[in-house]
Amino acid sequence: MGDHFQTIVDLDATAADAPRLAERVLGVLVTEGVVLPEGTDRPFGGHLPGPHWHKAAGPGRTDWAPTDGLTVHTGRTVFHGGQGDAEWVRCPRCAATTRLLTDEYDWIDAAWEPYGRAVSRWQETGEAAVICPGCTATVPLTEWTWADDYYAFGYLGFEFWNWPEFGEAFRGLVAEALGGHRTTLVWGKF
Ligand SMILES: [Zn+2]
Repeated sequence: MGDHFQTIVDLDATAADAPRLAERVLGVLVTEGVVLPEGTDRPFGGHLPGPHWHKAAGPGRTDWAPTDGLTVHTGRTVFHGGQGDAEWVRCPRCAATTRLLTDEYDWIDAAWEPYGRAVSRWQETGEAAVICPGCTATVPLTEWTWADDYYAFGYLGFEFWNWPEFGEAFRGLVAEALGGHRTTLVWGKF
């Protein structure tokens, strides 16, 4: 079984405005009764589900209640899907798709190497790019599309542990509280 998570990542927040935006979203989630205000020190999310947790769940997803809470991450973070890895990555300019795993889910080292280096560099500096093997454009790491949205690079993320699958309405509520920022959902298990 294991524990699974869904993390709503803000793709536009900067290091400077992430703490303020985190407070604003948390305020909305508490007001809506989705999570409780008091943070507790526990491994799977400090803000436990509130009385109206079902507002987060998608249609038909309210038959079981979340069993853990929300952790808010601020600061430069490589968000990723936990177990496994991205099967492929796609260039936003030419749509060339590069496979990163074999059919047996082994790493294709030569394909992964430039991306792996860029992920490390982004983690250290907040800036990195990869030269596309298809069109040779130098494309910022943050613009590539990953299989299953496996990776997201940002400064603000809302990580929910063991919650039902989120609905579009909830994703919209969070995006609105973020001032219309673009968001993505990174999910997986550990
Ligand atoms: Zn390309």
